[in-house]
Amino acid sequence: LLTIEGVWKNFHGHHVLRGIDLEVHPHEVVSLIGASGSGKSTLLRCVNLLETVDDGTIFLDGEDITDPRVNVDDTRKRLGIVFQGFNLFPHMTVLDNITLAPRRVHKVDREQAEEQAHELLAKFGLADKARAYPDQLSGGQQQRVAIIRALATQPKLMLLDEVTSALDPELVVEVLGIIRELKESGMTMILTTHEMGFCREISDMVCFLDGGVLLEKGPADKIFTDPENARTREFLRSVL
Ligand code: ATP
Ligand code: MG
Repeated sequence: LLTIEGVWKNFHGHHVLRGIDLEVHPHEVVSLIGASGSGKSTLLRCVNLLETVDDGTIFLDGEDITDPRVNVDDTRKRLGIVFQGFNLFPHMTVLDNITLAPRRVHKVDREQAEEQAHELLAKFGLADKARAYPDQLSGGQQQRVAIIRALATQPKLMLLDEVTSALDPELVVEVLGIIRELKESGMTMILTTHEMGFCREISDMVCFLDGGVLLEKGPADKIFTDPENARTREFLRSVL
């Protein structure tokens, strides 16, 4: 579904990604872990075309999306993105937040978009919040709405960057629950997280980034119990 080949990225001469290779298959959940500043968010931003790569290629469904001639909007339509701050539009109801992209970008009519939004809200336990405004919801509920909003465009791939890190611990649980349900529904996801227990539970593959280098990748159990690389071991010792 997604192939990242030899991706390099620098900011002002500082190399933030150094030759990243990564393959993500349909229905796979891939986590990026590593110290702050190791390049996790930058890699997701490159996939989302929020950053251009200096070198290397990213293929989505076999299409080279790093080709400058590619249609950025068309590429983003296939991706669902949720970042750390919830970024809901404060002046719009939950329902309008969720239906905005399907209506504007995907040209779905209002009735159909709202029907689908209600279905998603019901599925994720927020049926009674459709008419609420973001500031009337808890942080965890807001983040769930942000995830539902990303799902409303029926993306092929979800990119989740630290979706729990702005939340109080008791609210983290409900957001992790929704990600678990997404996995069960077969959604392909790349996520970054500092929640190591959750990472281990949910991930098919775990990638350890260190200074912009993908130092080690492997099945979650392997990485967490028997990492090959000394730096991976060191990192896990520091966070577990
Ligand atoms: P964290 O765990 O703190 O979220 P991260 O692994 O996501 O960290 P990135 O946000 O990818 O790290 O940042 C990697 C490096 O790139 C950092 O040194 C950061 O300062 C730098 N960087 C990121 N974005 C920019 C930018 N737009 N301009 C300049 N430098 C940037
Ligand atoms: Mg980050």
